[in-house]
Amino acid sequence: MMKPAPIQFEQNVRRALGNAGLQRAMARAKSGFIDKRRAAVSALPEFEALREQAAAIKAHTLENLADYLEQFESQVHATGGQVHWARTPEEACEAVLAICHKAGARTVTKGKTMAGEEIGVNQALSEAGIEPVETDLGEYIIQLAGERPSHIIAPAVHKTREEVSELFHHHHQPLGFNDRLREIPELVDQARKVLRGRFLQADVGITGANFLVVETGSSVIVTNEGNGDLTATLPRVHIVIAGIEKIVPTLADTAVLLRVLARSATGQEMSAYTTFSTGPRRDGDLDGPEEFHVVLIDNGRIDMLGNEFRDMLRCIRCGACLNHCPVYGAIGGHAYGSVYPGPMGAILTPAIAGLEESRDLPQACTLNGRCNSVCPVKIPLTSLLRALRSRQWDLKLVTQRSRYLLRIWAFVAKRPRLYHWMARLGIGLLGRIARGKGRFTALPFAGAWTGARDFPAPQGITFQHAWKKQKLP
Ligand code: SF4
Repeated sequence: MMKPAPIQFEQNVRRALGNAGLQRAMARAKSGFIDKRRAAVSALPEFEALREQAAAIKAHTLENLADYLEQFESQVHATGGQVHWARTPEEACEAVLAICHKAGARTVTKGKTMAGEEIGVNQALSEAGIEPVETDLGEYIIQLAGERPSHIIAPAVHKTREEVSELFHHHHQPLGFNDRLREIPELVDQARKVLRGRFLQADVGITGANFLVVETGSSVIVTNEGNGDLTATLPRVHIVIAGIEKIVPTLADTAVLLRVLARSATGQEMSAYTTFSTGPRRDGDLDGPEEFHVVLIDNGRIDMLGNEFRDMLRCIRCGACLNHCPVYGAIGGHAYGSVYPGPMGAILTPAIAGLEESRDLPQACTLNGRCNSVCPVKIPLTSLLRALRSRQWDLKLVTQRSRYLLRIWAFVAKRPRLYHWMARLGIGLLGRIARGKGRFTALPFAGAWTGARDFPAPQGITFQHAWKKQKLP
């Protein structure tokens, strides 16, 4: 279940900034994601046009979502599958458990599903005596570690190779794997060997969905490991867990979204595996499940459709906004205390779980706008974050001190002459105090800033002043 822990946000951040292993892992991952995306985008001249198209497809779908959802349900029925509607995480878990009980399931394999994380399906399965087994390598690592994902496409991005080596040694030794492995290919190979048996034991396979195609009633997943395909095809029952916003009208629309998704996420032209699941196995099929179920989750999304946060439902979970966010890059995903981290999570979590519960998240942003510029479906993330901050102000969720300071700021900012006079005075003073130093390591009322980084000293003149001087003959 989505449980943001906003009250601990500040403590989480402090802990993350002081965690040397996390900082190493984040620095390595960040540059890799950014470089690969840049290379993939620059190799495709029509990428910007595709972004426009992708955003338009999602906007059109949201505009007509009720109709498309009904059509999708009919199409799933027509292909022999079933759709289950869930307003809340509890209802979604109940639907999953009912299917599992009917199938007599003891073990469930799982592909990566953020919607599954959102509803807390692993916990629900475990409490019902059904063992969930994560099969995506990153998800498997964090399941062994007893943690939640820290990134929406790379759940174990915060783990160093040494930590994974230690985890595998600890958990795989009782299974007869005695050697301590250190190299990535060896670790991957060992995980494969352990998971192979689990795939064959599973009674039910649960996957998420990148897209749900109305035209065919299919669910689409993209993976690089092929684990999603084994999860969807080997067990007798396949359950897809997805938010209602995953609907896409046609296969042609899906192709557009796939082209921007992989490039934005991992810098690939396409993911290694793109799998369409349509209904249960038909006569003559060589493989596939006997039952196909889609659990469609609302969990606050219908409210979002009708308010100023509708654009957030365009999200295709590529993770680019996380990879390009300086705040996420510094603190990692766990510090957000919610299932969805980074810029998209800072909007989605308050919109779904409530602003009061996650009041710190909209503030975890410098409004630099890099997320806007890389989002493949052109979500105006910083505008939505500003809208959340306005809402916080209206709901009086801003501290008295901040309200007081913002009122003073507003008073001054609305009076340009006073503003310029005060700016010149303050900057002149700071410039004099700092003469020769270039930067401050401590400042009164700015301890939170200078505690983590230096404050550049002003040069003794405001921008406006310099601008005017330059223009004068
Ligand atoms: S908000 Fe945009 S960039 Fe961020 S995960 Fe969603 S689609 Fe990707």
